[in-house]
Amino acid sequence: MMISDPIASFQQAYETSRQILNRIHDQGQKLFGYFCTYTPIELLAACGYLPVRIMGGRGKAEQCYRLLPEFICPFMKRSLERAMNGEYHFLSGIVQSYTCDAVCGCQAVWKNNFTNMDLYSISLPYNSKQQSREFYIAEFKNFIEKLGQPYDSGFQEKLRQAIELYRQVRQAVLNLYDSAQSGLLDISAEEMWYAVNAGFVIPPGQYLELIQRKVQQKKEISDDQKHSLSVIISGSEIGHPDILTYVEKTGGRILWDDHCTGIRSFEPADGYGEDPMERLVDRYMKRSPCASRSRAEDRWLRWEKKLHHADVQGVIFVLQKFCTPHLSDIPYFKDQLKKRGIPAIVLEMDESWEVSGQIRTRIDGFLDMVQGKNG
Ligand code: SF4
Repeated sequence: MMISDPIASFQQAYETSRQILNRIHDQGQKLFGYFCTYTPIELLAACGYLPVRIMGGRGKAEQCYRLLPEFICPFMKRSLERAMNGEYHFLSGIVQSYTCDAVCGCQAVWKNNFTNMDLYSISLPYNSKQQSREFYIAEFKNFIEKLGQPYDSGFQEKLRQAIELYRQVRQAVLNLYDSAQSGLLDISAEEMWYAVNAGFVIPPGQYLELIQRKVQQKKEISDDQKHSLSVIISGSEIGHPDILTYVEKTGGRILWDDHCTGIRSFEPADGYGEDPMERLVDRYMKRSPCASRSRAEDRWLRWEKKLHHADVQGVIFVLQKFCTPHLSDIPYFKDQLKKRGIPAIVLEMDESWEVSGQIRTRIDGFLDMVQGKNG
């Protein structure tokens, strides 16, 4: 695949991704879209496609109301809006792993309205038993068969290469998070958001170069930053980083996150197994779960381990309006956090991702309260 002009920063990569992808498409590379990071992008790469995550982002939702009701999350509204504006014309198809009902329902809307694209769905098991693993493997094999690929030794080799490439990408992002968390890498919340999100929409080779460049500029955070209030941001897709910047400017330091456009998509970097398909399935079965695929109690077990190693002073849940899976986990999480003496706040965002006066006041009040509590 031809590499286009060098990109100077993650933000530039994210903001010019459409031009980059158009150019790649014009050079003959086929691209395939996906909504959610439960989608096995390694299979798409092994089948010769460049996987591109379909993002909602910030903007208007107007045309989409011809096809969707109002009570759908901004992520689904905006991605349909963008498709109706022709922004995804370069996709040969879309694949979605069954996550929440909203995304599966919207996929049917895409299917009926973008007849030039092939649409596929992959069912995912909820359990981690041996039968679930076998079901997962069968689903993945079924998918590549639909894309016209036999699971033979030639394909297995391509799959090994794709797994290795995306292992490197995930590991690089996890290292970025580790360095930022330990204070060895001075990276703002905004830059981290662009760093993660650029990786979903530009070719992996270009992305790895950007990460390596960032790591070479490593610089420790200042003492002031070290003494900021340590918070976690959790929720679904965060469509724009302004809200994170506001938290940071108001005295919060985002120690780690658990949302659909953050570290959740990268843990673990790889799985185990001699056969590449088993290795791939192992990775997806062990991945950090989303509220739409897991019980709150099981997600909480992972949080507990992380909280054990980090001094977290507050949690800010940033949810997409009408995102039922994430909203329904909140009572359990708030309860558990309360038992640990960690205060939490829930903010709901619409497609404008505007940090309104009301939201600013709530963040100000919350961080004041956390500050007071921690003396
Ligand atoms: S999990 Fe929430 S934000 Fe994500 S697609 Fe479903 S409803 Fe939308």
